[in-house]
Amino acid sequence: MGLSQVDLRYPLTQVTEHQHRFDRYFLHNQVEGIDYYQLAMRSAEAALVEQYATNEKPYSGLAPTKFVHIFDDTFDEMLPEEGASIENLLKKVGETIVAHSIQVANPRCLAHLHCPPLSSALAAEVLISGGNQSMDSWDQSASATIVEEKMVRWLSDLFFKEDRADGVFTSGGTQSNLMGLLLARDRFLQQELNWNAQRNGLPIEASKLRILCSEAAHFTVRQSAFLLGLGEQAVIPVETDEHQRISIESLKHHLKLANEEGLLPFALVATAGTTDFGSIDPLNELARIADEHHMWFHVDAAYGGALMLSENHKHKLTGIDHADSITVDFHKLFYQPISCGAFLLKDRANFDSLKLHADYLNPEDDEEIGIPNLVTKSIQTTRRFDALKLFVSFQALGRKIFAEMIDYTIDLAKETASILDDDSQFELVTQPEINAVVFRYNPEEEKSEEGLNQINAFIRSHLLEEGQAILARTRVNESVYLKLTLLNPRTTIEDIHAIFNQIKQLVQVEAK
Ligand SMILES: *Cc1c(COP(=O)(O)O)cnc(C)c1O
Repeated sequence: MGLSQVDLRYPLTQVTEHQHRFDRYFLHNQVEGIDYYQLAMRSAEAALVEQYATNEKPYSGLAPTKFVHIFDDTFDEMLPEEGASIENLLKKVGETIVAHSIQVANPRCLAHLHCPPLSSALAAEVLISGGNQSMDSWDQSASATIVEEKMVRWLSDLFFKEDRADGVFTSGGTQSNLMGLLLARDRFLQQELNWNAQRNGLPIEASKLRILCSEAAHFTVRQSAFLLGLGEQAVIPVETDEHQRISIESLKHHLKLANEEGLLPFALVATAGTTDFGSIDPLNELARIADEHHMWFHVDAAYGGALMLSENHKHKLTGIDHADSITVDFHKLFYQPISCGAFLLKDRANFDSLKLHADYLNPEDDEEIGIPNLVTKSIQTTRRFDALKLFVSFQALGRKIFAEMIDYTIDLAKETASILDDDSQFELVTQPEINAVVFRYNPEEEKSEEGLNQINAFIRSHLLEEGQAILARTRVNESVYLKLTLLNPRTTIEDIHAIFNQIKQLVQVEAK
């Protein structure tokens, strides 16, 4: 659209010389601003489409030092004295930075819980960044606050079926887990020790506080413990069973020991979808144990939460509604661009321990007349309107398509596991619960663990350098294993066969 097609309701009359000077750099109601914005957006879109359209490999394979050279050759200075044409600049950015980034939408980009983003959400991102609403206060967001509240209401109903439930959008699982353990700590201190942590900090008993989770729980449980002033020692890692789920027997044993030692276990963290295996802890049983021991029950469903959308798989999350709080990430199995997550709370009264009053953001008289200022529910202040992209994606695709995509990837993982099971050159660790498959190349002729570790590490780095496929590596019982995280519903079983064949060829060539 050129300037002639733009309906200018506020023509150039009241504009001063001073404003004119910066007109082109912002999106506003003047022709110059609108034209520059449209050119910038078109150029960015062209750069991205060019890369998606022409890149066949998940990565160019460029080594870090080589990229430094390309970057330095293309861009002389980080902040040049004079600016450049936006069209040329974005073209250059496309040919250098975008060209040598990881192509997350490639069907053979299978390392992490890192999804191809939905185009509907990418369009919503244009509105999110262009509108630049901030979710901390009503007077910086208006309609956006209502949309987030409605989405949070819907999510609360989906996970808890409970009127008291509430929640807030977060930057992801790290923040959501921290919030869960923060509220858990503060409720425990208030109820059991009559101690107000918000006002007084930690009591001397703090060194006895304990969090229980399985040893396969995400590292952010430990990270939260030290951020909360409890130290990593506060986390008791409980052994897992052969399916990588928390062992109930071990959990009971650790609880007994902790109580005998006079420690204060205040939180039990279940994982619904562990990062490596996608395994899901037995939620009902854990909920019962948490209840019995007066512990806060937090479910980290960053990965597995999306199963709620699938009629075929939501039964795997049975018992999640007993949680006191839940972590769910939308930038994983909900196919949202980074970042997008939520923290959900069974009883909104628990948000009170977070609440601070900042006169400029959430004055108490706003509350009295029912104006929502979401800053009271978050540990962030300025916060993105990420709820919009989830909303737009839900509206554009509908539940059925989300469910079909999730179901497809779970079926693909099952099929992948059975290929590995039937092939004597590979070793599968355990049947996948969701869509992550952990395995290693383990031919009969190689006997030493050291040798296997080297081969498997080599496979992963070589495939990445060649840009053929991106796999993750992980450790199981101190040995190197490979992981396929099959989030992409466009990955086919042919892609999987091709990767396994590449691995075999690679090892053969290397052996010669
Ligand atoms: C990804 C993940 C996290 C961390 O979430 P971020 O969104 O990366 O901050 C926490 N727990 C689990 C189980 C995860 O998979």
